[in-house]
Amino acid sequence: MKLSQQFVRSTLLRSTTTSKATSLSGFALWQRSYSTKPGLSTTPVLPGADPSKLVITTTTTPKELTPNNELVFGKTFTDHMLSIEWTASDGWLTPRIIPYQNLSLDPATCVFHYAFECFEGMKAYKDKNGKIRLFRPSKNMQRLNKSSSRIALPTIDGDAFTKLIAEFTKIESRFIPNEKGYSLYLRPTMIGTQRTIGVGPPGSALLYVIASPVGPYYPTGFKAVSLEATDYAVRAWPGGVGDKKLGANYAPCIVPQQEAASRGFQQNLWLFGEEEYVTEVGTMNLFMAIKNKETGQKELLTAPLDGTILEGVTRDSVLSLARERLVPEGWAVSERKVRMSELAEASAEGRLIEVFGSGTAAIVSPVRNISYKGQLVDCGLQGHEEAGDIALRMKNWIEGIQYGEEEHEWSYVVE
Ligand SMILES: *Cc1c(COP(=O)(O)O)cnc(C)c1O
Repeated sequence: MKLSQQFVRSTLLRSTTTSKATSLSGFALWQRSYSTKPGLSTTPVLPGADPSKLVITTTTTPKELTPNNELVFGKTFTDHMLSIEWTASDGWLTPRIIPYQNLSLDPATCVFHYAFECFEGMKAYKDKNGKIRLFRPSKNMQRLNKSSSRIALPTIDGDAFTKLIAEFTKIESRFIPNEKGYSLYLRPTMIGTQRTIGVGPPGSALLYVIASPVGPYYPTGFKAVSLEATDYAVRAWPGGVGDKKLGANYAPCIVPQQEAASRGFQQNLWLFGEEEYVTEVGTMNLFMAIKNKETGQKELLTAPLDGTILEGVTRDSVLSLARERLVPEGWAVSERKVRMSELAEASAEGRLIEVFGSGTAAIVSPVRNISYKGQLVDCGLQGHEEAGDIALRMKNWIEGIQYGEEEHEWSYVVE
């Protein structure tokens, strides 16, 4: 039976039952309705993910904890994984926490051929009372659904999935170090699991979450990085998918990264278009603090969400905090396009105050200089300084909220 027929049949069967619906974005609705036959206007109501049905199977071979000072990002994983299957006919199936294990997939599975994969990156933190906290998980849920629906994978109810992730972090609590700067990196991953090399929407998917204990990005304090502006390759383009966390976006970034590294630069800076707009740094968003050429006004700038920029949760947090706490100090905050030449000019005229990347892994990553057209653009750090004032304060503010030192609506306390 063809997938579309199967889909229509299940739609008809299910349309009379009132099971909990998955939250569907406009795109997902479009994508689903376009596979139904003309004249059929039933909205499919498939079972959503149900945290009350969670089944837990604990490991019989618990792992030894890695000492805090030996933690390497993404290298060791916890005892378990959270796993939920989806099918086009039955929706989200029973959520399970199972021992961490290999997946067994047919070599024809669509994820291996057409990159039906998207992911998220978030962290669980332990506060000083030992309570586990997530940071703005609803943002990750929204972004996951945007990513998955763009590649014809299902969407999931964000609140339900957050609850399941919270349960998972409780099971893995012993892996979350009780020390500031440490956390449990969570990697929600969705893949298409249909066994076919035919190109089409996957009829089945697997959503799983694995977790890796991580230490502070800068264990001995900030270390400002040197960047190389990449002018021969583009990361993302208008109308493309660079604003989604699709696995397919990342592999092509490694060679330019290696190129930059071979010339001694820690990261590459992605430019876009003939105007050479600065977009992102490696897999982080970019912030620039500049003194305006005409007015002398201090401005915190970042690229706008025009489809070429990944909507970072940290980016959004930096912008909100800047509007709340820096604007009253006389700063202007704007999301606008900035040319690499504008940045170089500001630097040459002593108006570039500081530059930093932002992302979940490091929160902020200060930039020392940028190699651009054979010159080194200085990014405003004085002498032996490893971070500018804004980057330092942002890190402290955000970390304060993540570890519950400042009570804030962005902190999700796992009960
Ligand atoms: C994940 C990611 C970011 C940062 O997003 P956060 O939600 O702040 O971690 C920025 N750029 C790219 C390309 C990314 O993949």
